[in-house]
Amino acid sequence: MSQIFILLEGDELSSAGAELAIFGSRAGSVTAVICSNNPEALVASAATLPVERVIVLTGIDFAKSSLRSVSSVLAELVKRDSPAALLVASSARGKEIAARVAVRTESGIVTDAIDVNAALEATQSIFGGSYTVSSRVTHGTSIVTMRSHCVEVTTTTSSPAVEYFDGAGYVDTQVTITSSEPAQKSARPSLAEASIVVSGGRGTDGKFELIEEFADLIGAAVGASRPVIDSGWYPHAYQVGQTGKTVSPQCYIACGISGAIQHKAGMQTAKTIIAINKDPEAPFFEIADFGIVGDLFTVLQSAIAALK
Ligand SMILES: Cc1cc2nc3c(=O)[nH]c(=O)nc-3n(C[C@H](O)[C@H](O)[C@H](O)COP(=O)(O)OP(=O)(O)OC[C@H]3O[C@@H](n4cnc5c(N)ncnc54)[C@H](O)[C@@H]3O)c2cc1C
Repeated sequence: MSQIFILLEGDELSSAGAELAIFGSRAGSVTAVICSNNPEALVASAATLPVERVIVLTGIDFAKSSLRSVSSVLAELVKRDSPAALLVASSARGKEIAARVAVRTESGIVTDAIDVNAALEATQSIFGGSYTVSSRVTHGTSIVTMRSHCVEVTTTTSSPAVEYFDGAGYVDTQVTITSSEPAQKSARPSLAEASIVVSGGRGTDGKFELIEEFADLIGAAVGASRPVIDSGWYPHAYQVGQTGKTVSPQCYIACGISGAIQHKAGMQTAKTIIAINKDPEAPFFEIADFGIVGDLFTVLQSAIAALK
């Protein structure tokens, strides 16, 4: 049976990490490589997923060492075990690690996949969702970065064998992280992880209070279109689109956003799309599953009142 490596990082299991295990188990026996200063929680979580082995990296202070350390040690493990695939979450960090491992192991790489099948054919949604492309790596290990919210996670009970790998010899000495500060956490879910995203566009005129209140009532993250960011109405970290974040939530609610191709490029793979726009001709309605023609403030006020 083929070996499939997945990369799990951080102090707790993310939904993106859990999805990697589900995708991996379609194609073979999953080994989770765990990079964490507190690996216990991830090891325990791996036993709730279709994972047959975990490799816990030791000897690296992940808070201080750059992602080059993780890339080097992962490349070493890939060379040692020759897995059929390495699946990594499609964050900026995940994609950089994956690219570095691909170079070091002379393997092919596919980024931003939304699906991968048992034959390790990856599916990408490209050009703002206008095309669906299937591709397969033909050289070395298939290195694939996977977007989140693309598969349902069903938990299971497994008893993965636990192995430790000393990565001390692979620590990057050229770059050391001297200090880091966690971003201010809001009570809202992050854009990347949220299963619902409520986004505001130029039509909000910079008034995000109702968007935020509505988002909080339904447990959603808040997003925005580029003019909102360019006008300084909302921070850049919340921009969705070609030059912002790519999201793939269960539900995307666009309020006062016209639906330009560059915006759709960042959200078109959402399962259900709802558009609120006062212009019945707004392009967003072409891809929306549900559309509400009306003033966004009136619509959101009614929705908030109904929810309350
Ligand atoms: C290289 C490049 C990269 C880009 N990257 C991005 C990107 O990453 N993300 C992004 O979003 N854009 C990006 N853009 C910009 C993109 O082309 C559009 O200009 C932008 O998405 C438009 O934002 P908008 O829909 O909020 O504004 P508009 O196009 O001005 O639309 C506002 C909409 O709000 C509606 N409206 C107004 N008032 C109300 C109301 N009271 N109630 C309901 N509806 C109302 C209007 O009918 C209109 O449809 C990029 C452009 C370029 C050239």
